Amino acid sequence: MSNSTERKPHALLTPLPLQGHINPLLRLAKLLHLRGFHITFVHTEYNIKRLLNSRGPKALDGLQDFHFETIPDSLPPTYGDGDVTEDAVSLAKSVREKMLVPFRDLLARLHDSSTAGLVPPVTCLVSDCWMFFTIQAAEELSLPIALFSPISACSLMFVLHYRSLFDKGLLPLKDKSYLTNGYLDTKVDWIPGMKNFKLKDLPEIIWTIDPNDFMLKFLIEVGDNMQRSSAIILNTFAELESDVLNGLTSMFPSLYPIGPLPSFLNQSPQNHLASLGSNLWKEDTEYLEWLKSKEPKSVVYVNFGSITVMSPEQLLEFAWGLANSKRPFLWIIRPDLVVGGSMILSSEFVNETLDRGLIASWCPQEEVLNHPSIGGFLTHCGWNSTIEGICAGVPMLCWPFFADQPINCRHICKEWGIGIEINTNAKREEVEKQVNELMEGEIGKKMRQKVMELKKKAEEGTKLGGLSHINLEKVIWEVLLKKN
Ligand code: UDP
Repeated sequence: MSNSTERKPHALLTPLPLQGHINPLLRLAKLLHLRGFHITFVHTEYNIKRLLNSRGPKALDGLQDFHFETIPDSLPPTYGDGDVTEDAVSLAKSVREKMLVPFRDLLARLHDSSTAGLVPPVTCLVSDCWMFFTIQAAEELSLPIALFSPISACSLMFVLHYRSLFDKGLLPLKDKSYLTNGYLDTKVDWIPGMKNFKLKDLPEIIWTIDPNDFMLKFLIEVGDNMQRSSAIILNTFAELESDVLNGLTSMFPSLYPIGPLPSFLNQSPQNHLASLGSNLWKEDTEYLEWLKSKEPKSVVYVNFGSITVMSPEQLLEFAWGLANSKRPFLWIIRPDLVVGGSMILSSEFVNETLDRGLIASWCPQEEVLNHPSIGGFLTHCGWNSTIEGICAGVPMLCWPFFADQPINCRHICKEWGIGIEINTNAKREEVEKQVNELMEGEIGKKMRQKVMELKKKAEEGTKLGGLSHINLEKVIWEVLLKKN
């Protein structure tokens, strides 16, 4: 090992093994690498197989000082075959009960490698807050740990307050009449930074959930464990969520909003890191030539992320709404997007949209959003998609599905004015109307202007001297490089 490698701090990064968690943490890993850290990025064995499948045998060829390791996820062999909810429960159980032991083994292996002079000793952990078993491992070795939250500050604030919503008796709703009797207008503005928030702004599933529900308890446990960490890193920025960030700072003095990560990374020299990708699905490549053939800002980009599913009926309504809007569209339909598995788009639809529609199964979203021909984004409002849309300056049509997506949607539409919401059971007429509004309506034009302003603020914040830039330097010096 060369002297320069020997002196390097070594950060071990551990995402929850889902696409929306891996992507932002890999971006953060690249930023730390650019600031001189030796990086070990931990995937699960299952995801490694997927990465090799989607990206080819070189997927894991890291760099000399940026490499990938694995731990088993101990998930049932059927994981990935069942429906989304079952998967989430299995994954949460594995996090709670099974992952600490193999993670300790990995740390021991890395210790042996460092003794043999192959890698520098691990000096700090940066862990997804969902992977809270890492806190115990860090404590056992007296290593500093920063927890990374992949959701918005606002969603995190709710995770931290779920328990009090139940303890105060506000939830669950006593019976179905509470859905329509105005009760959902009850304000929850006692939560720091949540002025104007009402029960109805929470994800619907929370209204009626059993307080003993396993996933609810798991989320509460995530929040409890965050209190044990020396630092919280967030992929957001002050201009987006200033009130709630102030609220969170009163709860966590060591809070570091360093977002938006795509904007941060775009401003860094990172060509040598470009090969370090994380797509678990194989990317289609046809889209690029196709996009090049389209007019600037003319294409509607449609993507519902990595977990959202929809019924065949809803898919058809979106399909015909898009077709009837007569606009070019690039629609990503994951193989598992439609419940029941099969995608049924008639030859009539295919013929009708042949000259202006392209359907693909996966694409590098950030690249697509930044293509000059993209004019609007029909999204499920996952936090990464929201952030990537802002960084690309693209206005949004929002179809939130579950989890934190309704909260993100509320912000996109009501707080920031950069999107419009589309009904959960949207029919083709509404889809057509909203797509046209997004692309060329008066509201659409205002949204485009506002999202461009936010994009600019994001860039300013992540430049040298900007708040997110300062926060990244601070978390490095105050936490990750801190000697115990
Ligand atoms: N993504 C992608 N290509 C696709 C679909 C998704 O690269 O075709 C990426 C997207 O850029 C984002 C992540 O997958 O970084 C999805 O995360 P998000 O939080 O938006 O939604 P989730 O999948 O967690 O619901």
